Amino acid sequence: MKNKNNARKKAQRSLSDFESDLYKNAYHDSDYQHTIKFYFSNHFSRIHAELENFGNEVTNRLEPLANENNLSCNLPRIEKYNPVGECIDHIIHHPTYEEAGKIIYKTGLLKKLAHSGLLECLSFFFLASQAGEAGHNCPIACSAGMIRVLQKIAPFPGKDYYLERLTDHDFATNFTGAQFLTEIQGGSDVALNTTYALQEKDNIWRIYGEKWFCSNAGADLFFITARFDQEISGTKGLGLFLIPAKWQGNKNHFMLRRLKNKIGTRSMATAEIDFQGAYAFQIGSNEEGFHFVMNDVLHLSRLFNAVCVLGMVRRAYHIALSYAKHRVVFSSPIIHYPLVLENLARIKSENTAMISAIFATAKLQDDHDKNKLSNETSLLLRLLVNLQKYFSALLSFDHIHRCIDVLAGNGMIETFSPLPRLLRDCMVCENWEGTHNVLRMQIFKDIFKYNIDKIYLAFIHDEIKKIQQCQQSHILIKKLNMLEKELQHFRQKEIDLQTLHIRFIVDSMAHLYCALKLLIEALDQNKSSSTSKLDCYYYFCKIYIEEKHVQYDKDYLQLINRIVL
Ligand SMILES: Cc1cc2nc3c(=O)[nH]c(=O)nc-3n(C[C@H](O)[C@H](O)[C@H](O)COP(=O)(O)OP(=O)(O)OC[C@H]3O[C@@H](n4cnc5c(N)ncnc54)[C@H](O)[C@@H]3O)c2cc1C
Repeated sequence: MKNKNNARKKAQRSLSDFESDLYKNAYHDSDYQHTIKFYFSNHFSRIHAELENFGNEVTNRLEPLANENNLSCNLPRIEKYNPVGECIDHIIHHPTYEEAGKIIYKTGLLKKLAHSGLLECLSFFFLASQAGEAGHNCPIACSAGMIRVLQKIAPFPGKDYYLERLTDHDFATNFTGAQFLTEIQGGSDVALNTTYALQEKDNIWRIYGEKWFCSNAGADLFFITARFDQEISGTKGLGLFLIPAKWQGNKNHFMLRRLKNKIGTRSMATAEIDFQGAYAFQIGSNEEGFHFVMNDVLHLSRLFNAVCVLGMVRRAYHIALSYAKHRVVFSSPIIHYPLVLENLARIKSENTAMISAIFATAKLQDDHDKNKLSNETSLLLRLLVNLQKYFSALLSFDHIHRCIDVLAGNGMIETFSPLPRLLRDCMVCENWEGTHNVLRMQIFKDIFKYNIDKIYLAFIHDEIKKIQQCQQSHILIKKLNMLEKELQHFRQKEIDLQTLHIRFIVDSMAHLYCALKLLIEALDQNKSSSTSKLDCYYYFCKIYIEEKHVQYDKDYLQLINRIVL
């Protein structure tokens, strides 16, 4: 009896050690800190200090708040009418939602986006995402797309004011944005949109129609696709419009029908909305509107989406790692079981590779935006973002699932760790901004329309050339040559077979790009005698680049040990 009690107490003690690990600073991750150093050599000490501070907030305050406002009893609701019966359609959030917002926006990440660039903004967004979607990450991505477009277009009444409010770092006074494309008949196929816009005078339009999925329904500003001419079908007839939630101090003309009861991202309000003549400004000309939607709004949302799921996995990985160190099963901490170790090594290697790839893409995007690089770079960026939105979402859901497997029974329990919530949030992100097939098919179309495969091959070739001296890159050259041949076969096939083949092509492109960008960071990290990323690179190559089965030998065991421990 005494022995049994001791065993129970011991297990409880080790689980409480695990619980206290949950509060470790989210920024205390040497690989992530290296990425920050790699990209911000000039401003490193300032950004490092800000991230140090924010990383602490993420685990100690933001995550507990997100856990709280995700509880079924604390989800958002619509307050339909004010006391005198006027329709107000207010979204009421739990107070912890407001508190969480204050913590994230206080970092000034959207001001950073507007003035310093994407990379700096995403460095904070990556940490914010470790608390899951947290009710705020979708609105941040939407606001980011809106800021990007507003910065590009000609002045219109209120533009500067909107930009100022969207970049305000105080959640009590700022504006947030939303983007509504999807209608019941057209999610992926937006060409079927029927919501329309009628011009009232000059640039003032009225919007009519129903949007089926409207996230951040309580936003201050909505970007919406609407048909500027109902006679023009397809995406050619779609324009982009900005609807302020309030028009001249009064509620604009729209009605929240109901909130969606969702599997994940639960503390963020997603509604069905009827637009009943809402006042709006047209954004860009008739022809420009849909280009802004694709090249700026969706493009940026996809990039944010990728960072968001990678952040969630990083958090899940640290939780699973800590659990594996503390949980004793069959008299041994489970971290000592090679199968547990291998599972963790795989998650870490893939996640690290994708983080390197997305940061490299954000840097290229900043360079492109600042220096107006070639049209080819713009097409390359379109491809890289689509690739990574797809690949990160595909793997990340599986990664969090694998982390839950490490915690087994306790992994299923909502009050034990945030893993169940992370899994649910990640699943929603997988669907947002284009499903896997839609992204595969987008790349498919771009290959034939813009020859983006050729742009990609030339880019990878040049990048490998820069590090050609290093022996680790040889395997990438082999993979590149193989991909080039595969693309030749692909181009010669009939259309249905090409459609099947595209999955392999897209996957190979993603693997090669991630491996390359991970290697570039690893070589830099290696200068300070850390092989952490190099080990992840070797492992990533074993899974995705080498054309042979993994050899389960001593070297393999040592490699997975080095990656995890
Ligand atoms: C919680 C939540 C919030 C959302 N918030 C917003 C929002 O704020 N604004 C907004 O505009 N939208 C929003 N959406 C909608 C979301 O972006 C869409 O659900 C998504 O784009 C997919 O569209 P769909 O659901 O209509 O799927 P469908 O287009 O009906 O696709 C169904 C299936 O068919 C596959 N498929 C489609 N086309 C092809 C093809 N050519 N080849 C092969 N397979 C194909 C898809 O991959 C998918 O598996 C939200 C969705 C959710 C779940």
